[in-house]
Amino acid sequence: MRKIQAVRGMNDLLPDQSAYWQYLETAVSHCLSSYGYREIRMPIIESTDLFKRTIGEVTDIVEKEMYTFEDRNGDSLSMRPEGTAGCVRACEQHGLLFNQVQRLWYAGPMFRHERPQKGRLRQFHQIGVEAFGLAGPDIDAELILLSARLWRTLGLTGAVTLQINSLGSVQARAAYKEELVKFLLSVKDRLDEDSQRRLDTNPMRILDSKDNGTQQLLDEAPQLFDYLDQESKDHFTQLLELLDANGISYQVNPRLVRGLDYYCKTVFEWVTDKLGAQGTVCAGGRYDGLVEQLGGKPTPAVGFAMGVERLTLLLEDLSLYPDELQRYVDVYVTAVGDVQQQAFCLAEEIRSQVAGIRLQMHCGGGSFKNQVKKADKSGAVLALILGEDEASRREVGIKFLRDDREQVVVPMSEIAKTVQQLL
Ligand code: ATP
Ligand code: MG
Repeated sequence: MRKIQAVRGMNDLLPDQSAYWQYLETAVSHCLSSYGYREIRMPIIESTDLFKRTIGEVTDIVEKEMYTFEDRNGDSLSMRPEGTAGCVRACEQHGLLFNQVQRLWYAGPMFRHERPQKGRLRQFHQIGVEAFGLAGPDIDAELILLSARLWRTLGLTGAVTLQINSLGSVQARAAYKEELVKFLLSVKDRLDEDSQRRLDTNPMRILDSKDNGTQQLLDEAPQLFDYLDQESKDHFTQLLELLDANGISYQVNPRLVRGLDYYCKTVFEWVTDKLGAQGTVCAGGRYDGLVEQLGGKPTPAVGFAMGVERLTLLLEDLSLYPDELQRYVDVYVTAVGDVQQQAFCLAEEIRSQVAGIRLQMHCGGGSFKNQVKKADKSGAVLALILGEDEASRREVGIKFLRDDREQVVVPMSEIAKTVQQLL
């Protein structure tokens, strides 16, 4: 019989890999709580309308990439392609936004029917951060500082660069879009195929086309910065000053526009040149109009999302994971002969006494030699040896698996204390 395989672009995360993910997730959650951000968890499935109304009907995501289906009641539902829409929906539904400030984060799978490749999957994972109720550049700066701190913690500072831009107010952006389209229509024949298609759907996105010919044409295009309203200009200047004051370097990239319709003013991306075309590891910006668009009171908002697969790939490529991550057992308890009950009690006792210990009990019997082999393979530092002789003397042997050191014997009553000292 043919074995069933996972769905294309939806990966399993095996135990060797999950240690790396846990390391990243722990670093992120520590970093976020050090800035007073709290976690929110939303459902993976939402009404299709939510994404149509927020992301925009004529974006690649909604047109081509969403996993949309009718449930048994005939309602159109979609697997979330990103987290911001659901986060705004949840906050609005539970009254967390009006006249309040919220600093929130979430983590979990997102779904987009894209062409799977390195750093691009159909089920991928994001850690998203959103701040509501703050309109100034200070909160934009906070989000960037927070991400920069995370890169420092992970050792990624030299591997990622910050690109930043301002899209201006919704009105400024619309005025610019009109002029840009006029220009692009005048050179339509010379645009790459993808950009020609985008001309009708999402013309701003042409600005970050990867095609060289198109990029050259764009040198002649009207510049977004010339269309910015004064308020957006001031906001941007103040943000850059805050970054300067905190020693954060950046590149102002006038062609950075981001894919989604709802961004305004600040947009930014952290990019690396080490992952090929999938170089953006973290991306975000301000979306002051979105809450209102979903029926709420006008609420300023800014956020970003990190791609967990890309970050873990980067950490792996650069060998930035601490070596000890692959060790998941500290102590391995062997039990040979009729001593199983005592061995179990001993193991439980040590787990109770030694906080945080990772202790594996040998199960399944077998010879002493075989059990020590398993102990070694587990990665444990210590093997506790309990045979009938030891048990009758109320003692336990300690074998040092990683050091060239003589085995020792200690009284059972002192084993927890001794193990604690040895680890
Ligand atoms: P890209 O330009 O690389 O397609 P995007 O603009 O579509 O990215 P966002 O929607 O802003 O990406 O998502 C934020 C982050 O989530 C990205 O910077 C990236 O790290 C990650 N990401 C987005 N799509 C995928 C995917 N299909 N597979 C893996 N990671 C992804
Ligand atoms: Mg994309």
